[in-house]
Amino acid sequence: MDFLNDTKLCTGCGACANICSHGAIVMKENEKGFLKPVIDVAKCKHCGLCEKICPVINFKSENFASPKVFAFINQKENERMISSSGGVFPVFADYILKQGGIVFGAVYDSEMKVCHTSADNSNQIKKMQGSKYVQSDTKYTYRETKSALESGRYVLYTGTPCQIAGLKSYLRHDYENLLTIDLICHGVPSRKVFEMYKKELLEENKDSGKILEINMRDKNYGWGYKSTETVKTTNSTYHTSADNNVYHNVFLSNLSINDSCLGCKFNKIPRTGDITMGDFWGVDDFDGIVNDQKGVSVVLLNSSKGKEYFERINSLQSVFAKELPLDFVIKYNTNLVASSKPHRKREKFFKDVIKGKKTLRALKKKYLTPKKRILKRLFKTIGELLKKTVKKVLSV
Ligand SMILES: Cc1cc2nc3c(=O)[nH]c(=O)nc-3n(C[C@H](O)[C@H](O)[C@H](O)COP(=O)(O)OP(=O)(O)OC[C@H]3O[C@@H](n4cnc5c(N)ncnc54)[C@H](O)[C@@H]3O)c2cc1C
Ligand code: SF4
Ligand code: SF4
Ligand code: SF4
Repeated sequence: MDFLNDTKLCTGCGACANICSHGAIVMKENEKGFLKPVIDVAKCKHCGLCEKICPVINFKSENFASPKVFAFINQKENERMISSSGGVFPVFADYILKQGGIVFGAVYDSEMKVCHTSADNSNQIKKMQGSKYVQSDTKYTYRETKSALESGRYVLYTGTPCQIAGLKSYLRHDYENLLTIDLICHGVPSRKVFEMYKKELLEENKDSGKILEINMRDKNYGWGYKSTETVKTTNSTYHTSADNNVYHNVFLSNLSINDSCLGCKFNKIPRTGDITMGDFWGVDDFDGIVNDQKGVSVVLLNSSKGKEYFERINSLQSVFAKELPLDFVIKYNTNLVASSKPHRKREKFFKDVIKGKKTLRALKKKYLTPKKRILKRLFKTIGELLKKTVKKVLSV
C-alpha cells in the first residue's frame, strides 16, 4: 500500500486486491482489526494499476448534487421485520432477481464473520437483510460482479459508500446492467473488537455453545436508534438493548470505528451509489408518516439510473413512498454528509485492544464511565446554583 501516503485513509474496500492479476495484494486485518492490503513485493510487476484505481486517491462521483429524497416503507410486513429500517433493500433485490439477476451484499459466514457474497434466490437475500455493524470483507466480489455484468446479467451491489466507490473504480466504466445502492454510514467497527465481543458474550453467559445468529436491530422490540440486539446460540437466546450492550456502546461513541471513517471522503453528496438507503430518524417530527415502530427508511435518488429503477419499484403496490425535503433528512442524519467525530480516547482504546489484556467490558468501563472527578465538579456546580436560587427566592 505504498501508494497511499497515509494508510489511515485506506477504507479496506479491496479494489486493489481485486485488480492485481499477479496476486501480489492480499487483504489482511491489521492489529486494530481493520482490513488493509498487504503487498508481496516479490510478486509485484510495478504496473501501477492498484494506485490508479484506489478510490481514496482517484474517485470522483458524477451523481446528482441535489438528489430527490423519499421516505420509504416496504408494505410486505414479514420482509420489513427482518430488515433494519423500512426494508428498501429486499424490494430492489427482489426486482433484480426477477430479471434473472444477481445481488451482492453483506452476510455472516459460517464463523459469524461478516463478508460480501452473492445471492440469486430469496433465501440468500434474507441473510443479507439486517445491518451488521462491523467491517465487511468484500473478498473477490468486484471480480465476480464484473464477470456477471459481462455475461449480460443484471447486478445489484449494496454496501458502504466506500465499497461502492471501490467497485466503481475497479470496473472503470459504467455498465447499463449495474445498479448500486450505498448506505448512510456512521462508520464500520473493527473486526477484532467484534471477535472480542462474541467471545465474551459466551463466556459471561457461561454458554459453551456456538453463536448461530446475531440480529443487531431486532424489531420485535421496536425500531429506533437505540434498538435491541438478539443473539441466538446452540443453547440459548440473549436480548440486550443497545444502551446496555458493550459492543453498541463502543461503536456509537466512535471508539471502535475505522481510521478512514473519521475523515471519510465518501460520506457526502454527490453520493457514490445510484441510490442511497438509510433510517428515517426524523420521522416522529414529520407530518404525514406514522411511526409504527417497524421501521421507516429514507431513499436518495442519486443518478438517472437510480431514478428509473425507483419509478419502476414505486409502481408496485407493496411500496409506500413520500417525498421529503433533503435538509430535513440531513438534520436528523448528519452522516449523510459528514464523518463521525473521533472519541478523544480512541487511540488509547485501540492500544488496549492490541495489548489484549482487558476485556471489552473492562474497556467500556475504562473509556465510557464518566470520571468521579467530573461528577464531583458537576454536583458541586449544581449545589452552588441551587444555593443561589434559594437565597434569591428568600430575599424577595
Ligand atoms: C456499518 C453501518 C453503519 C450504518 N450507519 C447508518 C447511519 O449512520 N444512519 C442511517 O440512517 N443508516 C445507517 N446504516 C444503514 C441502516 O442501518 C440500514 O442498513 C439501511 O437503512 C437499509 O435498511 P433496509 O431496511 O432497507 O435494509 P436491510 O433489508 O436491513 O438490508 C441491509 C443492507 O445493508 C447491507 N449491509 C449490512 N451490513 C453491512 C456491512 N457491514 N457492510 C456493508 N453493507 C452491509 C446489506 O448488504 C443489505 O444491503 C448503517 C449500516 C451499516 C451496515
Ligand atoms: S503495481 Fe501492479 S502488480 Fe504491483 S501490486 Fe499493484 S497491481 Fe499488482
Ligand atoms: S483500493 Fe481500497 S483497499 Fe486498496 S488501498 Fe485503496 S482504499 Fe485501501
Ligand atoms: S464512514 Fe466512510 S470510510 Fe467508513 S465505512 Fe463508511 S463509507 Fe467507508
